[in-house]
Amino acid sequence: MAQLVLDAPVQTPLEKPKPVEISGAENLIRMMLKKHKTPFMLIRESVLERQFARFKKSFPEVTPYYAIKANPHPKIVKTFAELGTSFDVASAAEMKAVLRHGVSPSRIIFANTIKSKEDLITARRRRVRLMTFDNEAELYKIAENFPKAHVIIRIKVANRGSVVQLSLKFGAEPDQAFYLLRKAKNLGLVPRGVSFHVGSQSTNVENYLQALELTAAIFREARENDMPLKTVDIGGGFPIQHFENEIGINFERMAAEIRKQMKSLFSKQTEFIAEPGRFFAGPAGILVTQVIGRAFRDNQNFYYLNDGVYQDFSGMVFDHCKYEFKTLRRGAKYKTTLAGPTCDSFDILSNDEELPELYVGDVVYAKNIGAYSSASAVPNFNGFEPAKIILV
Ligand SMILES: *Cc1c(COP(=O)(O)O)cnc(C)c1O
Repeated sequence: MAQLVLDAPVQTPLEKPKPVEISGAENLIRMMLKKHKTPFMLIRESVLERQFARFKKSFPEVTPYYAIKANPHPKIVKTFAELGTSFDVASAAEMKAVLRHGVSPSRIIFANTIKSKEDLITARRRRVRLMTFDNEAELYKIAENFPKAHVIIRIKVANRGSVVQLSLKFGAEPDQAFYLLRKAKNLGLVPRGVSFHVGSQSTNVENYLQALELTAAIFREARENDMPLKTVDIGGGFPIQHFENEIGINFERMAAEIRKQMKSLFSKQTEFIAEPGRFFAGPAGILVTQVIGRAFRDNQNFYYLNDGVYQDFSGMVFDHCKYEFKTLRRGAKYKTTLAGPTCDSFDILSNDEELPELYVGDVVYAKNIGAYSSASAVPNFNGFEPAKIILV
């Protein structure tokens, strides 16, 4: 009887196989595969701690408020709460997700410049009084629903070279900032300072340096008009490496330049805060998927994974992110397409990988995928659930 034989690869390998190297991540994945079904997202607590420590070391004068939108998983919030970070929330739901861990409301900034009336009332009841705004209508809404709230104006700054733009939707013109802060005071609010966001995954330090200059000018104008300001919020945007051989990303060097600028432009009494999201959560995540089907099309190997752009690779859409796909197999590499499991051609992860021959059940994983991944996954599209998150 004729035997059914899987199509052997018809391509010629792209290069000679490299010597075998087994990384710590691979050992961890193999161990977790014995206990858990894929897809799963490993969040390494030691890496969360390391990122926090790196931030504190580079910015000793800056209080980090972890932007939980990057990854709001309760165990991540709990880890950061215990490490003593503060938090950036954008809604009442995020606020509650942080307060639930016993975090004091004084360690929270409500950093969405447009807040619903209901969310402002929740903020007042829960005593989360520090918040950002960027326009006059918002000030009236804050004054009505949260008298005496402390407000920080978010100004519009350059996002040059940042992967995700954040000044298209938010930010007051810097030359309006003083006027708006004075307006806040006249409405019975407490004008606290200035914030900006240079865009996410910002590798261009100039964005921060210029934003700090704009901020310093607003501080000066306020001081000269007897309304001294206290708080500079340098936002998020701090970049991480997504690929092992990526060049041009050096957080420590960037931080040193930003810190120098802060010291030269502001007095010792100034309070500095930041809102890192990606930098805190991204490097900790490893997404582990398995091949559920394979085909040979357009002269390439096609592998279909049990996680795709509707689930934990959603960052490829919303965050414009690319990932380094790896497998546990060794051997000659071939041109490969990787796709998600849904019935949508949009659910293609890459047409341009170089991977060894894979079989159903083989693992494909991606590192540095802890931020803007599961956070924006769609539950149950086409019946496929996002990965289970496991803190290790
Ligand atoms: C998304 C966001 C952050 C976090 O940005 P990262 O680039 O992930 O550091 C911080 N602040 C605000 C207001 C945000 O919207």
